[in-house]
Amino acid sequence: MKIKTVKCRMLAGTLEKPIQFGIGAFPTFSATLVEISTDDGISGVGECIVRKAPQVTKTVVEQMLAPVLAGRDPHDVEGLWDEMFQQLRGWGHYRGFVFEAISGVDTALWDILGKAAGAPVYKILGGAGRSRVPCYASSVYFDEIPHMVAQAREQIAGGHSGIKVKIGRGPALGGRRTDVASVKAIREAVGADVDIMLDVNSAYDAATAIKVCRQLEDDDITWIEEPVPPDDLDGYQRVREGQSIPVAAGESEFGVFGFRDLIRRRAVDILQPDVARVGGFTGARRVGALVHAFNLRYAPHTGFSAGVSHLASLHVAASVPNLMTYEYFFAPNPLRDLFTEPFPTPVEGFIDVPQRPGLGLELDERILRKFEIT
Ligand SMILES: [Mg+2]
Repeated sequence: MKIKTVKCRMLAGTLEKPIQFGIGAFPTFSATLVEISTDDGISGVGECIVRKAPQVTKTVVEQMLAPVLAGRDPHDVEGLWDEMFQQLRGWGHYRGFVFEAISGVDTALWDILGKAAGAPVYKILGGAGRSRVPCYASSVYFDEIPHMVAQAREQIAGGHSGIKVKIGRGPALGGRRTDVASVKAIREAVGADVDIMLDVNSAYDAATAIKVCRQLEDDDITWIEEPVPPDDLDGYQRVREGQSIPVAAGESEFGVFGFRDLIRRRAVDILQPDVARVGGFTGARRVGALVHAFNLRYAPHTGFSAGVSHLASLHVAASVPNLMTYEYFFAPNPLRDLFTEPFPTPVEGFIDVPQRPGLGLELDERILRKFEIT
């Protein structure tokens, strides 16, 4: 089997009402999809995480990575990953757009390998005996506290056993005091048996994060996510040492090397790689070995990405060691449902992994064309 073509498609979808959270308002969802075809007629799809300018990852894939892949056997996926990474590593481009581009390519290659083997991707990654994975509902965004409470109640009434709540307000929205009040109100409303995760989206400094966590230590919080910016490793260490709520991070981190530093500093308890940023399935799996070695927990990130990434993350969750939970995104996301059939719906805190070969769901051309940009 040889790789014949590598092409990208860019998607964008805008919400009527932008989502509000720690980094501001977020109106438009974007994605770059990578489609790879082979000489024996099998094709695969992957997604590069995009928050801005999908044209950048498209250019990296088509101009820089496609020449590495032309005529090669997708079964050599680990070696191809290293060759792609080597393209600009020596010039300092070992994070960022290049990594996101590699992620989309690698995901598409594993989709091909699954289809060629007639098995779902999580099975050819080694499986873990999981055809369904535990999940939590993500996320309750900034709003008036009664609205946040109502949203949390609705998700728990709908069968979820865990819910993520956004904190990290700036002064205009009431700051850390409103953050604490919102979490306490939600705990009061959902009761003691529900897992509550908090996500700061890097909006605090370490001192603020420690102060807020200490005020919430008696509210049985499952984790505090991205309390400080991803580059503030000292801050992460301070937060982890300065209070008792477990610290989660990783959606903003690139590859096994980024996670190595977070882990070596003992800065985190729960690792949250995004398959569309960490280097596809190959990157996600390599991080899994580190998580295993250090006996940490793995909780794949999804969020504002398009459906291919949400689906690929489900296969990551089904195959990695030390899985904690999968992020099931219930908040509005125009690019989540891109398939000819519905995305799996969680039941009683678990979500089924599609069992057909590869990623297991087929893209719907009519839906794609609605969101495709040039
Ligand atoms: Mg997050």
